[in-house]
Amino acid sequence: MRQPLIMGNWKLNGTKASVEALINGLKAPAAAAANVEVAVCPSVIFLGQVEQLTAGSAIKFGSQDADLHTAGAFTGENSPVMLKEFGCKYALVGHSERRTLHAETDAVVAAKYVAIQAAGLIPVLCIGETLEQFEANETNAVVEAQLKAVIDVAGIESFANAVVAYEPVWAIGTGKTATPEIAQTVHAHIRAYLAGFNAAVAAKVQVLYGGSMNAANAAELLAQTDIDGGLIGGASLKVEDFSTIIAAA
Ligand code: PEP
Repeated sequence: MRQPLIMGNWKLNGTKASVEALINGLKAPAAAAANVEVAVCPSVIFLGQVEQLTAGSAIKFGSQDADLHTAGAFTGENSPVMLKEFGCKYALVGHSERRTLHAETDAVVAAKYVAIQAAGLIPVLCIGETLEQFEANETNAVVEAQLKAVIDVAGIESFANAVVAYEPVWAIGTGKTATPEIAQTVHAHIRAYLAGFNAAVAAKVQVLYGGSMNAANAAELLAQTDIDGGLIGGASLKVEDFSTIIAAA
């Protein structure tokens, strides 16, 4: 039985005041959903604040990225070891905004995934196709290649301690959501592909859906057999909407 995981990606948003209000507002909904894990991924600048605010609560947190190096002359980067020290449980890796806006290749994503696990964090590996690839029926091939790049470097066994997030790029921040049927089909394909390497690992790994999940569509998406939770951007910035999604899980 896979535990539902509802994770907010705050992206480049927030102030000290809004972070405090959001975390305090989420404490009761997170505690009430005893079978669901709730996590947020703030900008790294708020990690110290989030660590303090979430102490003693049911809310876990992670980073939106991590460097592949532990330390050294890498100006502007954040090491997974530092993120671990600040209490992160998770680190997103390979988010489509990193892949496109920061030119992160499959090889870089795989190296980061390895570094994140080596530091004792759980990587949330984001994969998904562009609109062009979706329309060309290339979704399966794209997600397979993105998974294979990590399997080749980290091994299939590493997925026993990782989360996969299927995020069709055309659905992120666009208000367009994959229908529950489309999402379930891709999630099932991801699990079947992983099962081709190791069935036990594939049965255990949580596969989250991301892409304009909101208070109105979450229940139907989360009801699908192979959708084990959500990675939520815009709707995770509002206590009421995110709480509704948590309750739907
Ligand atoms: C995301 O950035 O991971 C995401 C799914 O964003 P949104 O929910 O806003 O589409």
